[in-house]
Amino acid sequence: MRYHDHHFHPFGYAAAATGLDVYDAADIADLQRRLAGRAQQVDGAVIAERLNDETLAERRLPTAADLDEAVVDRPALVYRYCGHIAVANTKAMELAGVGAGTPDPDGGSFDRLPDGTPNGVLRETAIDAVARAVARLVPPQTDAEVLAALGALPTMGIGSVTAIVSPEEPLWVGVDDEIGALVRLAPDLPVAMDVLVATRSPAALSRAAERLAAAEGPVRFAGWKDFSDGSFGGHTAAMHEPYHDRPDTRGTVRLDRRLAVELGRLSYGLGGIVAIHAIGDRANDLVLDVMEELIGLGVDPAATRIEHASILTPAAIERIARLGVTASVQPAFIASEADWLPRRLGPERMERVYPFRSLLEAGVQLVGGSDAPVEHPDPERAIRTAVERVGFNPAESLTRKQAEALFAPPGH
Ligand SMILES: [Zn+2]
Repeated sequence: MRYHDHHFHPFGYAAAATGLDVYDAADIADLQRRLAGRAQQVDGAVIAERLNDETLAERRLPTAADLDEAVVDRPALVYRYCGHIAVANTKAMELAGVGAGTPDPDGGSFDRLPDGTPNGVLRETAIDAVARAVARLVPPQTDAEVLAALGALPTMGIGSVTAIVSPEEPLWVGVDDEIGALVRLAPDLPVAMDVLVATRSPAALSRAAERLAAAEGPVRFAGWKDFSDGSFGGHTAAMHEPYHDRPDTRGTVRLDRRLAVELGRLSYGLGGIVAIHAIGDRANDLVLDVMEELIGLGVDPAATRIEHASILTPAAIERIARLGVTASVQPAFIASEADWLPRRLGPERMERVYPFRSLLEAGVQLVGGSDAPVEHPDPERAIRTAVERVGFNPAESLTRKQAEALFAPPGH
């Protein structure tokens, strides 16, 4: 069997492969050195991908002031590896017109200095305005770079992916029209792609489905993707109870229920599925409300999917099973979160996180993905992690066979 990665970001993956990947930066000084080095090599803005503040010696996010020490004369933007947080330097915030008077956007926030000035840390939708302003100053990835990056997938046994692509706003800075790029690249793609379109515009969704239908190659419209919350790493996954290490927050809800029902019905009418990102237990309950409403309106339960379903109450597991919603999980998160997730969640909730076996035993359809570039796309790593679950509730381990089945192509 060739593997299928059920949650993959082709352009984000290519951006991390061809750009500046800072996942293994040792400390903030090391990050600064790499940013300054990159500034020597590229014109325009300096972008870095996959920052992991949990493995920096300081164990904190850098701020605009930290980035300014490395890049002061032009914009710099550093994405956290989850993609739900980014840090901008002062120049990038100026370019986007972000200042003390800028309010937090819906579904996002700026970390601020005591006087109210944003300190450079952008959470969730607060990334968008800065990324949009900076994107104009980033040389676009070439088709050859994208194809070269994707060429690594078949060597890992991957024959096809469910690709998450944005028709207007780039999810990662680099390509402005990802649908257009995919249609252009279709005849040369090394893997087949079922495309989930991430947008909040009904017109953009319909148009993307139409454009993908015209692609000459193994590319097809597979549905609509949205976000309901953020990440554990960024303290933005929406939880019922506050974070263990930040009692002042329960995360960020990004879901617009009315719009989600509208876009979900539209996607189903276009022949696609409805896939919504939910990591926190509160977000998962909110997404299940949407799925239940959609199913009541005639959407096939098999066409509803929660992306991540990371932490669930026992009642939510039962509800997912009863409704017939698919859970799309990323076992590789376990390995990279083992060191710090217990601090975020505390001991009681660690028992309930990534409940793969409970989901299977409840009768839930499970599929597996990497979320690359968040995690390495090699399915073998994910399969091993789902079986071993080092540092996580071992009662939720899968057998090798169950773990392999997560990466079966759709319909198998
Ligand atoms: Zn993703």
